[in-house]
Amino acid sequence: MTITNELLEELTNAYGPSGFEGPVRDIMRRELEPLSDHVEVDGIGSLIARKDGTGDSPRIMIAAHMDEVGLMVKRVTDGGYVKFQALGGWLDSALVGQRFVILTSKGPIQAITGMKTVHVMTPEARSAGFKRDGMFLDVGAADKEDAVSRLGIRPGDPIAPDSKFEALNGSDYLLGKAWDDRIGLAIMIEVMRSIQESPIQGTLFAVSTVQEEVGLRGAKTSSFLVNPDIGINIESGVAADYPGITQDEAQERLGNGPGIFLHDTTMLPNLKLRDLVIDVSEENNIPLQFEVLAGYGEDGAEMQRAFGGAPVVNISVPVRYLHTHNGIIHRRDIDQAAQLVARLVQRLDHDTVDRIARF
Ligand SMILES: [Zn+2]
Repeated sequence: MTITNELLEELTNAYGPSGFEGPVRDIMRRELEPLSDHVEVDGIGSLIARKDGTGDSPRIMIAAHMDEVGLMVKRVTDGGYVKFQALGGWLDSALVGQRFVILTSKGPIQAITGMKTVHVMTPEARSAGFKRDGMFLDVGAADKEDAVSRLGIRPGDPIAPDSKFEALNGSDYLLGKAWDDRIGLAIMIEVMRSIQESPIQGTLFAVSTVQEEVGLRGAKTSSFLVNPDIGINIESGVAADYPGITQDEAQERLGNGPGIFLHDTTMLPNLKLRDLVIDVSEENNIPLQFEVLAGYGEDGAEMQRAFGGAPVVNISVPVRYLHTHNGIIHRRDIDQAAQLVARLVQRLDHDTVDRIARF
């Protein structure tokens, strides 16, 4: 297993709000090019790495998304503050009092979300919290002219959370932003490495998608380009092992292994493929968690619906505090998820995929 903490640090620290995945794409291209027979980028930016097998069927697509939740510059006020549009799903309370980076054409600009001080607030206002509409970014500009001319801030500039990776107090609990879905990308690299040593029958397409957080957009175009016979999406799972969240809201726990999604807002998995995932996990002594979510959307949905449709499953690594500056995952879950997907890919020969795909 060669997913190093250094690679995880580089992947999660990289800035890549939806539509601005360039820095993450550069890392993925560097990592996947030596492991692939062909690498291309589609019309909206997803990176598609292809590794040929010993035969030419089936076409197996694995995918993870490069983008993270972020913001976008809407306008600069006369006073030099920046009003923003959210990219992806944020809780209002996760936005306030945080550090961000505005990615301007002149380079990155530091910013913070300011908030009214407690000293001037009524007791009711103190407990009401802050609403997104009233929020703004402070960039240390004297006025609008300063923000626009000196700092180079323009409407449309992407804004990323500013938060750095660390192994929390030297533990196996890894802290960082954007585990959703940089962890999927790290696993995809490892799966591509694994088939160098033991080639598979079919063709493996490792797809790093764009714009998942704003509506699974990169998965749509790349799935049409790949035209998969079968698909495995790799995503961040929803950990439910901290105070205040219940097992009826989500079922995964950190350290208990990879998960498999059985329901989310966008996709129902193929159950024959689910059963194969369970078999592979049992045969290899890899623990497996089941996840049934009322909400959530993920790229597997678009893989499943390209052309005439294909069996697809979503494999997850549990993450605490998704869509905030500070997510936490467990080292062992990453390694076991990579092992599970690698072993699963080995099992997807022509006959097996044919059997799974047939109704
Ligand atoms: Zn995600």
